[in-house]
Amino acid sequence: MSFTRKRIELQLTQVIDNILIADGVYYLKLHKPFDFKPGQVVALSLNENDEPRLYSIASGKNEVSLNILFDVMPTGQLTPTLANLKPNDEVYISAPFGKFLCEHTPAVWIATGTGVAPFVSLIKSGTNKNITLLHGARTIDGFYFQNEFKEKLGDDYLRFCTTETGNDVIEGRLTNYLKELDNPAPELKYYLCGSSQMIIDVREILLSKGVAYDKIIAEIYF
Ligand SMILES: Cc1cc2nc3c(=O)[nH]c(=O)nc-3n(C[C@H](O)[C@H](O)[C@H](O)COP(=O)(O)OP(=O)(O)OC[C@H]3O[C@@H](n4cnc5c(N)ncnc54)[C@H](O)[C@@H]3O)c2cc1C
Repeated sequence: MSFTRKRIELQLTQVIDNILIADGVYYLKLHKPFDFKPGQVVALSLNENDEPRLYSIASGKNEVSLNILFDVMPTGQLTPTLANLKPNDEVYISAPFGKFLCEHTPAVWIATGTGVAPFVSLIKSGTNKNITLLHGARTIDGFYFQNEFKEKLGDDYLRFCTTETGNDVIEGRLTNYLKELDNPAPELKYYLCGSSQMIIDVREILLSKGVAYDKIIAEIYF
């Protein structure tokens, strides 16, 4: 028996800007060839025949550009080159797809690193009622888009930093906070986005505290 992988259709679009927003982290703005729903991803590559990588869309649905937030994997195939893109360069992207739509509120959003990207799209698209965001990062400048989140979510935006201290920042991992939490509300939806280890750990804690399996929705960046 043989399996053939369905090829993702890609189309060319142009770079508007590629902004370094933190050490090794870029906000890439592209001409938007199609509409999307916040939480969807696109496949992206620099050459038509390369294996594309997936990226969450990190712009508001009404913005003129389609933006992604990425960090450079120094030994990675795509991201070191992606970091060098300049305005008017061309990239291949797919139509948007994915099921991490985070449509239900009230909800708790949980993200580490660039895993905050779909929540950037949601907040920039106007979703901010009955939302709590738990945001983990190693350093304070790793809380990408923290000003936007603070403005829209106020005290329901909680930052957990593992290596630095600062105003309103909670020291330590967000998993420690969740472990100490008496009762995570079982009626809420929990949307998790980031590394596989974070998602495994958070899911285990939530399940152990009585949150139902189908209330936990995850997008794993692997
Ligand atoms: C649904 C989804 C959404 C995503 N959204 C985002 C996003 O919004 N932002 C973002 O930054 N990333 C996102 N990612 C991750 C992204 O798709 C890429 O994996 C990432 O950018 C690295 O791509 P790369 O080509 O530079 O690295 P790759 O070449 O894929 O390598 C990644 C790392 O793995 C190591 N590696 C590669 N091959 C091997 C191997 N054979 N054995 C051991 N180690 C190896 C490399 O050294 C490197 O450190 C998402 C992933 C998924 C699945």
